[in-house]
Amino acid sequence: MYLPKFTLESPRSIEEAVSLLGSGEQTKLLSGGTDLFPRMKYKLCSPGVLISLKGLPSFPPQIDEERKLIIDANISLTAITLSPEILEKAPLLALAAQKVATREIRNMGTLGGNICQETRCLYLNQTHTFQFTEPCLKRGGKECYFAPKGKKCWATFMSDIAPTLFCLNASVIVAGLDGEQQIKIEEIYTNDSLKPLSLKPDQIITKIIVPKTQSPSGNGFAKFTVRKTIEFAIVNVGVFLETEKDLKTCKKARIAVGAVSEGPQRALEAEDWLAGKSLSKENINKVSQKAASSLKIIPHHGYSKKYLTECLKIQSKQALNDAVEGLADQSNRGR
Ligand SMILES: Cc1cc2nc3c(=O)[nH]c(=O)nc-3n(C[C@H](O)[C@H](O)[C@H](O)COP(=O)(O)OP(=O)(O)OC[C@H]3O[C@@H](n4cnc5c(N)ncnc54)[C@H](O)[C@@H]3O)c2cc1C
Ligand code: SF4
Repeated sequence: MYLPKFTLESPRSIEEAVSLLGSGEQTKLLSGGTDLFPRMKYKLCSPGVLISLKGLPSFPPQIDEERKLIIDANISLTAITLSPEILEKAPLLALAAQKVATREIRNMGTLGGNICQETRCLYLNQTHTFQFTEPCLKRGGKECYFAPKGKKCWATFMSDIAPTLFCLNASVIVAGLDGEQQIKIEEIYTNDSLKPLSLKPDQIITKIIVPKTQSPSGNGFAKFTVRKTIEFAIVNVGVFLETEKDLKTCKKARIAVGAVSEGPQRALEAEDWLAGKSLSKENINKVSQKAASSLKIIPHHGYSKKYLTECLKIQSKQALNDAVEGLADQSNRGR
């Protein structure tokens, strides 16, 4: 399979990249290309101009004077797993980055590209002409192969990283023709499979900001795949638990789930239920059940809703248990 023809632009500054992006041409940003190039090969998009972000000035992860973590959107997933600043301030992000695809893809793929990846569907991410006569809604046609009588696209958003940024209460800095703005990570997602991101055509995510956390905290990330090697998630769950000083009572929980709907979701009902309660085995079981039963689940890639609900319950429990175990280790080290 060949890439369609395109012109490659290599701007040297964000301003130059923004002006190229807003030029009205059929343009697209290119980071590692691990999401974009396969889509171009499947003719899911055919931008005439690609604007490479590789030549932009870059910086390593930094902790500022307010103890916020600031990360270059162009950082590779491998670099995330090796950064001492990220391992100290946002280990949850590193746990998720470590579970994306393979080392080769993690070397090429970036944080910005991961959270801006397109939604996926069994009927979409493959050669079209071989099996399908008409383009589906997401290819610009009028029908859906997944739900033939429906008028909505149900493609799912598979990023492993985005749910962990929901857990960490992160924001993104976006540069565009109107200047720079800071947006909560939740707000960049539309929950519309046809256009999963709310970014305007001239906007680029330049930085990711993770605020300082106040209390002792525990982290867990669980990803379920059929194969252990290169595979998108069937379901993924991130957990960030802030606790009281005893490290056993939950002060605030943030639980976010990916790969089962049009965008990442917070398990708000489950989070509220756990706040103020002991992190006992019984409560972890109950909260996992609540997360699984309260979230939107779209059957995808051949997995039924019932199966995915069960997977979500098990993976939530795994991520919560990992977070609690991490807290127990901290407690033992403090003795
Ligand atoms: C075989 C395979 C397995 C994979 N497995 C996983 C997996 O397990 N988990 C997972 O999460 N992903 C997976 N991916 C998807 C992808 O590789 C990763 O998400 C990767 O992090 C994407 O980053 P990239 O830099 O290559 O993105 P690119 O392909 O360069 O870009 C992706 C999209 O984001 C846009 N974009 C890029 N940077 C920015 C920016 N700074 N601001 C605004 N828009 C931007 C691009 O225009 C493009 O539309 C897999 C891909 C492949 C091919
Ligand atoms: S769910 Fe979306 S991508 Fe999948 S076949 Fe239907 S319209 Fe196409």
